[in-house]
Amino acid sequence: MCARGVLLATLGVCLALAACGDAGPASQDDVGARPKVAIIGVDSATFDVIDPLLEQGRLPNLAALIERGARATLRSSAESSASPVLWTSIATGVGMQRHGITNFAQVVDGKRSVFASTDRKVPALWNMVTHRGGSVGVVGYWNTWPAETVNGYLVTDRFPHTKMNRHYQVDESHGVTWPESLVGSIAHLSLDPQAIDRAAIERMGRFSEAEWETLLQLGSDGSAVIGNGLVALKYGFQAQETVARTTQHLLEVMPQPDLLITFLELPDRVGHHFWHAYDPDSIDGPVPAEWIERWGDVVPASYTLTDEWIGRLVAQLDPDTTIFIVSDHGMQSTRKFNGAPDSLVTVGNSGTHTNRGILVAAGPAIEPGSTVQANLLDVAPTVLTAMGLAPSKQFEGRVLQPLFRRDFLQRHPPRPPKDDYLAERGARELPEGVDERYLEHLRAIGYIDDSDTDGG
Ligand SMILES: [Zn+2]
Repeated sequence: MCARGVLLATLGVCLALAACGDAGPASQDDVGARPKVAIIGVDSATFDVIDPLLEQGRLPNLAALIERGARATLRSSAESSASPVLWTSIATGVGMQRHGITNFAQVVDGKRSVFASTDRKVPALWNMVTHRGGSVGVVGYWNTWPAETVNGYLVTDRFPHTKMNRHYQVDESHGVTWPESLVGSIAHLSLDPQAIDRAAIERMGRFSEAEWETLLQLGSDGSAVIGNGLVALKYGFQAQETVARTTQHLLEVMPQPDLLITFLELPDRVGHHFWHAYDPDSIDGPVPAEWIERWGDVVPASYTLTDEWIGRLVAQLDPDTTIFIVSDHGMQSTRKFNGAPDSLVTVGNSGTHTNRGILVAAGPAIEPGSTVQANLLDVAPTVLTAMGLAPSKQFEGRVLQPLFRRDFLQRHPPRPPKDDYLAERGARELPEGVDERYLEHLRAIGYIDDSDTDGG
């Protein structure tokens, strides 16, 4: 196991202060003082929603980071607006033709399946940091299942979905975390969508009894109800809570890894399905007045709930951590919506992606008040630079130099780029039916539909 470092025998997690001997070769160049970085991904966060809320004082934690750091619009890819594609570009620093995650789902041998970590053709930040002798903790990030071997821990995107079907079985925990034994100690943190707390949801909006029943609805066979924004809200809220609570827990019971990555998804789920109540003027045709009155704050309140989690997680981090808040894309009106107050079958479908995401950076590496033109391909090179580590030869983006304090770059001068390689990954095989249920979940939240041949 570790030559030096902290070994948590109960979890089998090794968070090395220097290189872990069994986590791949680490360059001696990279061993030494290593500034810590945390990335909090917020799916679909846009300054179009954030800026009015900052003015109203409703996002105090994001405001504090911007106050002591920097902000920029993060331009996303022209090749796709699908979250798996974009988040993989953020983590790898390359476009989809090179990283290979080209959509939500694919058809292999006539069978539809969700893109998995085994479909990614290039190393990601967690591989790079591991290879350079650093430690990583990743929670809930897109397309990380089955978990790769890293120096630290990796809780895959399947973890918050383990209870999103009613057939949760022990053998479905296969590949859900690295180390494999970790899932047992955090399983209680994966929230059951059917056990959702109405009081918590009603911080965002008020829901009639019929709407609440619809939100809780399941098909007669126990399957998810497809294509309803109320149902998507349930899954989005419980998944975000699951990932955030798990991140909080892991920061409590283990040392902070050199690179922490976590993922908050609620603003995307509600943006897709409640935009008509948030911005009724953007819709062609009238939006029911009672929906505007009861649901007009669902989108803004999803940001305030997310801001609360940002505050809690940042408070747990070493004050010397450089923090990046990033989104994969923004959100705008589709100009239409589905459903009606007396027909709740297909509420939503009123928000769609834009190519304007966000980047907020703060911490010892960052020059306060700096500005920069940023693309999501620039995130990975910038993160490694903020950790004082060498960039990867694969990067298509650039280091966002204007964000950095001059004295930080003097202490951590740029290093020559390195070759990187993929880590060992678990087998793709799953017990019969599990992948189908994950596809069903993606349909329920509106990310894919049956008309697609390869998802999207
Ligand atoms: Zn989306």
